[in-house]
Amino acid sequence: MMSRTPRITCLAALFALFPLSALSWATPPVLPRVVLISFDGFRADYVDRPAAVHLRRLAARGVRADRMIPAFPSKTFPTHYTLVTGLTPEHHGIVANVMRDPELGLFRSSDTLAIWEPRWWSGEPIWVTVETQGRRAATYFWPGSEAAIGGVRPSWYERYEHTRPNAQRVQRALEWLAMPADSAPAFIALYFSDTDDAGHRYGPTAPETDAAIARVDSALGALMDGVDRLGLREAVNIIVVADHGMTESSRERVIVLDDYLDMGTVDVVDYTPVAAIAPRDGNVERVYQALVGRHPHLQVYKKGSVPAAYHFNAHSRITPIVAVADEGWAITDRAALALRAPPVVGGQHGHDPALVSMGAVFVAAGPGIAQGRRVPPFRSVHVYSLMAYLLGVRPAATDGSIDSVRALIRTRASSSP
Ligand code: AMP
Ligand code: ZN
Ligand code: ZN
Repeated sequence: MMSRTPRITCLAALFALFPLSALSWATPPVLPRVVLISFDGFRADYVDRPAAVHLRRLAARGVRADRMIPAFPSKTFPTHYTLVTGLTPEHHGIVANVMRDPELGLFRSSDTLAIWEPRWWSGEPIWVTVETQGRRAATYFWPGSEAAIGGVRPSWYERYEHTRPNAQRVQRALEWLAMPADSAPAFIALYFSDTDDAGHRYGPTAPETDAAIARVDSALGALMDGVDRLGLREAVNIIVVADHGMTESSRERVIVLDDYLDMGTVDVVDYTPVAAIAPRDGNVERVYQALVGRHPHLQVYKKGSVPAAYHFNAHSRITPIVAVADEGWAITDRAALALRAPPVVGGQHGHDPALVSMGAVFVAAGPGIAQGRRVPPFRSVHVYSLMAYLLGVRPAATDGSIDSVRALIRTRASSSP
């Protein structure tokens, strides 16, 4: 755990930044805070599974979206970084969990040195916005939070450790919340991986996934109870999101690239369900023609012609050819098939974000959030704008907008008497 010497927050500057509509001047102003919680791979409809009791309790006090539409590709690193920057991957630069940069080389989400390297991470994450405007931020695991982006890290952050007990994560968040108001972090991020792990291994509808839902839901329950015990319900906005959903995989739905391509002529930087392909001799047309229209469940695009809805053309880390498997289909090659045991029938994600199965949970409640409302699907690119609004900080320029998520905000008219 990293920490910095406490400092006095400049309250005058803060109040100048506050959205006045979020405050009632009849009572002493409280500094609004945001706790952003990610349940990896928590598909939107999991909220209705029996185990999600605390999540429904939170939704009853606040808002629930039918689903939140993730960024493309719907993978952990690109989508988490979109949530905190308000930028699409073609603008924030984390275009996949595995990617190649002409200067920086290879990035893998499992490579500690790469995730610490600020040159991979563009844009301004909300913790940087907060820290550079006189308040503090704390993250308990979030892609990007270990790099000094623009020279700034959260005042507190943790090095990623997959098996760190959930209870320890919640405990630490409650310690941050219990700090004196003028030094406590205004923004806290928390991450839990159980639902992604179980979804991949057993599939989205498996009983093991229900057990994972129960585990992350009880972590949320502990956090909500802790916030209440600290008397902070009217100061803390709790936002629960996921990075993407999950769909069933099958050993019958596999696209083998060698059936169409000589694998010696291409670099496949990332495989499935979005294959990032770079022809070694630069002959894009040859590789494109070899793949396009050849498999009924593989959509093949040249860079620059990827559908506009994917927002996936502009960055130098996007390969000349992008091939996207239809829902439930996976992309592989013979070498990988020979090396690995046949894929277990579990779950996967990464597909078209517009698919209902890729839809992520969004549930939030707190002093700045509308009460008892269910809202239609919206894109995760707007969550940064929402958080900046709730915190009263000046937002950086993004691909999102507060106007797209007004329905989530508590206005005088929508607040309870
Ligand atoms: P995905 O299959 O795209 O959902 O990737 C999920 C995996 O990303 C998790 O199982 C973790 O191993 C990894 N992961 C999630 N957050 C982080 C992080 N902050 N740092 C490193 N790895 C992470
Ligand atoms: Zn994920
Ligand atoms: Zn996953």
